[in-house]
Amino acid sequence: MVMTEGTARRRGLSAAELAVTRHLLVHGPATRQDLGHRLQLSYASTSRLARALVDGGVASEALEPEPAVGRPRQVLTAVPGARHVVGCKLTADTAYGVVCDMFGEVKASARSALPKPGHDGAVPVAATVKVIAQLTGKLARRVPTLDGIGVAIGGVVADRSVVQEGTFLGWRDVDLATPVEQRTGLPVIVTNDVTALAREQLWFGAGRTHATFGVVTVGAGLGFAVVREGVATERLVDNGHLLAHSPIDSSGPRCRLGHAGCAAAYLNREDAQDRAAGTVARPVTFAGLAEAARAGDEVSGRQLDEAAGALGHLVATFAGALQTTCIVLAGEDVAALTTSPAMTETIAERLRPGPREVQRCDLEIVTTPLTFADWARGAAVAGIQHVLGGA
Ligand SMILES: [Zn+2]
Repeated sequence: MVMTEGTARRRGLSAAELAVTRHLLVHGPATRQDLGHRLQLSYASTSRLARALVDGGVASEALEPEPAVGRPRQVLTAVPGARHVVGCKLTADTAYGVVCDMFGEVKASARSALPKPGHDGAVPVAATVKVIAQLTGKLARRVPTLDGIGVAIGGVVADRSVVQEGTFLGWRDVDLATPVEQRTGLPVIVTNDVTALAREQLWFGAGRTHATFGVVTVGAGLGFAVVREGVATERLVDNGHLLAHSPIDSSGPRCRLGHAGCAAAYLNREDAQDRAAGTVARPVTFAGLAEAARAGDEVSGRQLDEAAGALGHLVATFAGALQTTCIVLAGEDVAALTTSPAMTETIAERLRPGPREVQRCDLEIVTTPLTFADWARGAAVAGIQHVLGGA
C-alpha cells in the first residue's frame, strides 16, 4: 500500500449537487439566487443543496460584504482543496503525473519510466500498474488527502476501465482501472487522452463559452474529441478515422492506407517524416520543418504550408459536421503549424459565403500547445469529474 494516511474514499455528489459544484468551478462564486436562476431550481432546493455542499466541505458560504441594495446575499464558493486527484498520462515509455485540486490547479508533478516492452511488443501491464501506484504515492505526499486517479492514454478505452486498443503500449483488451484501484484503494477512471483534454476544456477552457466544440490534436498522430451540448463524448464511433482520412487534395501525397492526399497524409508525423527533405533534422517534427523553413529551406516551407492548409480543411470540415463555431487545437505540433498562414487562409476561404448567401459564420480557433504535464492535467480533471459525480 503506497497511499498516505489522509487518503480516503468519499461519497459522490448527487446530480443536483454536481450541477451546482460544476457551476461554481466553471463560472466562479455565485449567490443562491443566481444559482437558482441559472440551474432552474427553486430557492428552497438551492438552499438545501448549498447547505449539503457546505456540510460536505465542497463549498463555503459567506455574506456578500456590501450589497448595492437590499439585504446582504449569501455567496457560495467552491473550496479548491475539497478534493485532490492524481492525473497520469501514459506514453510508450513514460508515465507523467500531476496532482491537482478541485479547480484543476497543479500542486506537484512527477514522472517515471515505464517498463520496456516484452517479446510480444506490449509494455507489461502488472509492472505498469506498479509504476502508476508508486507515482501516485509520491504525488499523494504533496497534498493533504487524495481522492482518486485519472489515467489517460492514446487509444480506445471502454467502460472507463478497459484499454481495448492501446496504440503506443501495444495493449489489447487490458483492464487497467481495476488493478490500479486494488493497489491504491482509490477510485480510478481510465480515458482516452484527447477525451480527457476535452473534459478539461469543457470545465476550464472553451466550454465556458461554447456548449458544443471539437478538439483536434496534432502530435505523434491525429486525435479528435467532441463535446456536444455540454457533454464530452466518451468514445468516438470511429476513433477519429473518418476525419483523419478525409480527402484534401487528390493529387497530394498518399497516406499509409494508400489514400491520395487525405488529411493524415499531410499531418501524421510518420508520413511527414517520409516526405521531408534530407536537410530537416531527424526525427522530423513540424517544429523542425518550421525551423528549416526559417533557415531558407523552401521545400520544408512548402511541406509545412501544405500541412497547415490540410489542418485548416480538417478544422472547417469538423466544425461544419459538428455544427459548432469553436474548435480547440492542441498537441505538441500545433504551434509550429499555426506559424504558417496557410491554416487561417484555408479556413477563411472555406467560410467565404457565396454571392446569394446571407448567413455568415465565424469560427473561433483556440490553440493550446501541450506539454506532457498538460496531458496529465487533462487526466486529473477527468478524475475530478469522476470522483465528484461518478461521471
Ligand atoms: Zn488516408
